[in-house]
Amino acid sequence: MKNLQSDVVIIGSGPAGQKAAIQAAKFGKQVIVVERDPSPGGACLYSGTIPSKTFRESVVDLTRFYDRHFEGQDYILPEVTISDLNKRLHTVIVEEQEMIARQFKSNGIQCIKGSARFENQNTLLVVDDNYRLIYQIKANVFIIATGSSPRNPTDVPFDKEVILDSSTLLQIGRVPKSMIVLGGGIIGSEYASFFAALGTEVFVIDRRDRMLPMLDAEIGIHLQTALTDIGLKFSGQKEPIEIARRDDHAFVKFKDGSILEAEVLLYALGRTANVEALHLDNTGIQVDPKGYIPVNALFQTIIPHIYAVGDVIGGPCLASTSMEQGRLAALHACGAQTHHFPTFYPVGIYTIPEISCCGYTEEELKYWGFHYEVGRAHFYEIARSHIVSDNSGLFKIIFHAETLEILGVHVIGRNATEVIHIGQVAISLRAHLDYFIDHIFNYPTYAEGYRIAALNGINKIKFKK
Ligand SMILES: Cc1cc2nc3c(=O)[nH]c(=O)nc-3n(C[C@H](O)[C@H](O)[C@H](O)COP(=O)(O)OP(=O)(O)OC[C@H]3O[C@@H](n4cnc5c(N)ncnc54)[C@H](O)[C@@H]3O)c2cc1C
Repeated sequence: MKNLQSDVVIIGSGPAGQKAAIQAAKFGKQVIVVERDPSPGGACLYSGTIPSKTFRESVVDLTRFYDRHFEGQDYILPEVTISDLNKRLHTVIVEEQEMIARQFKSNGIQCIKGSARFENQNTLLVVDDNYRLIYQIKANVFIIATGSSPRNPTDVPFDKEVILDSSTLLQIGRVPKSMIVLGGGIIGSEYASFFAALGTEVFVIDRRDRMLPMLDAEIGIHLQTALTDIGLKFSGQKEPIEIARRDDHAFVKFKDGSILEAEVLLYALGRTANVEALHLDNTGIQVDPKGYIPVNALFQTIIPHIYAVGDVIGGPCLASTSMEQGRLAALHACGAQTHHFPTFYPVGIYTIPEISCCGYTEEELKYWGFHYEVGRAHFYEIARSHIVSDNSGLFKIIFHAETLEILGVHVIGRNATEVIHIGQVAISLRAHLDYFIDHIFNYPTYAEGYRIAALNGINKIKFKK
């Protein structure tokens, strides 16, 4: 066993750990990252964001998804194999790995492979795959960035072939003919839409009334319609009571007595924080009732020099927000002035069609009794949509009916996750609706949707009887 001493030790090399490590190194700190996977990158790189988004891009390209509209009746879904779909993934992962390795090297960050656990509040032990103790590390600051894993109950017979979670789904050797997706949250909805676009018969089941219930309801309805158009079937208010593999297919029995069978099943009913290996009890830190590590606004745990960031502290559980949490924690740990985590951040959902939103939903504003108005631009009003043959979608700007301050922006349709940032900037700078009206937008672009929606909204205010 080797003894090491460092200024900052980061546990986990996903987006949160990487950005924390780089930020601390920029302050001239000696930084060690401990990662139990063979290479840095986290769930984000190997089973989360990057594989799912690479898969999505392949589905859209290989099925010529956007040609459907131009070709109409003549469109024939091309035969696509799972190896066609996964071809890009290896290249993307290698490129990302190289990028992370370059950044760690250029910032003098030492990466140690092993599983970390606390011996006490100032000492970390690192064990190898055979539980042999390989390092003891003392440090002034620890940043826990251990992420999350699929929440897989022990009574569900996961087998990597038929009963799958989001980490094993893309390892199946074929495009299934039918698929049950349990859970209409972000991960379930995204994968359900990818496979529906591939021609798989997909059933999404949730105990709630609709998929992605946190969305602005109008955007949710648009999504449901778009998904129904590509063949996806959704059933709400259903709870599974038995999940089994019967021969070569998945079998699910629901509380209401109904039964569903399909070639594969994706179990996407939540994630759980990776805390079990950390031996947090040796530090005095206790997880909250949902299993997440509680932190203050500066990402400190109850032990001030032990920080926690990313999925391990609970929602929003995005790579984007995890990175910023990591950076902010490292800034504070290094004694720098930091700002609070932004109140408004965008959420990108890469279903087909994609969705992105920032700020408040209509339902929230209604609940709080805000006097608001809505401006809309349907994609069929945007020239760019016609040019690229994808004219279903919606821009929705919600603004204060008296001050015209922009309170929420919601977009469903192509490029939603890119154009949202224009709305995000407007919301963060507390811009008013006139901003979108008084400025020129490139034509033809999707961004022009903001202007069309703003004009629609202002006309409602000006010409209200
Ligand atoms: C299918 C899927 C799709 C997603 N799509 C998106 C998306 O489009 N956009 C988006 O913003 N987010 C997306 N996310 C969420 C995103 O992947 C996570 O929010 C992000 O990875 C969290 O980053 P993290 O650094 O907290 O943890 P992780 O990326 O989970 O990394 C944690 C690392 O810590 C390591 N670790 C754990 N315990 C120990 C230990 N004891 N010792 C040493 N190492 C340890 C793990 O091996 C892992 O490498 C998606 C997630 C999934 C599952």
